[in-house]
Amino acid sequence: MTAANVYESERRAVLDAARAMHRAGLVAVSSGNVSARVGPPGADLLAITTAGKDYAAMGLGEVVAVDFDGEPVEGEGLPSTEMLLHTAVYRARPDVRAVMHTHSVYASALAVAGEPLPPLIDEMVVGIGGGIAVSAYAFPGTEELGAAVVEALGERNAALIRNHGLVGVGATLAEALRVCEMAERIAHIYAAAKSFGAPAPLPPDAVETETALFRMRREAGGK
Ligand SMILES: [Zn+2]
Repeated sequence: MTAANVYESERRAVLDAARAMHRAGLVAVSSGNVSARVGPPGADLLAITTAGKDYAAMGLGEVVAVDFDGEPVEGEGLPSTEMLLHTAVYRARPDVRAVMHTHSVYASALAVAGEPLPPLIDEMVVGIGGGIAVSAYAFPGTEELGAAVVEALGERNAALIRNHGLVGVGATLAEALRVCEMAERIAHIYAAAKSFGAPAPLPPDAVETETALFRMRREAGGK
């Protein structure tokens, strides 16, 4: 048996973020997943959506708290099949407290094309930390996929997952959602810009200034 409802408010926050991700059209059916660290710093616990949930009928029962090895801490049900992706990011990035994985259409299209997003829009560099790289391909649900995504993320807040989708991270669930929405919108803009001609990346000095702002925000906890 697991302890009763110690992490209920954190699980509810993950549920709300998953519903918001679905409402924003970033996932369909049961795809995608969301998590947040729970407990005191260094506890190595997360609240994460369960495998095979249905967003339309999703409740608190579809978010469980587990440790970084997937052992249940609170709630019934199996954690997301992409749990290893989430724990790989938390292990590599102490600044990250929330991870969101989507299959949004334009981001996934770029991931299929193997095409990274250059730094195109000022807010992208401030909010995401620069362009968005594409990870190496790895089979869903594996440790290799987690490692490939960590490498593609670097210090930034988003990465495209080759032939698969997008991951967005942040100091809060709200920030991870903002990153995923922004990445999808910029992927859409990039696709539209390509139909008009060659999209021009931002000037390097603007990218430098905005990257410094991104780092300052990250040190302030994503605010
Ligand atoms: Zn996926």
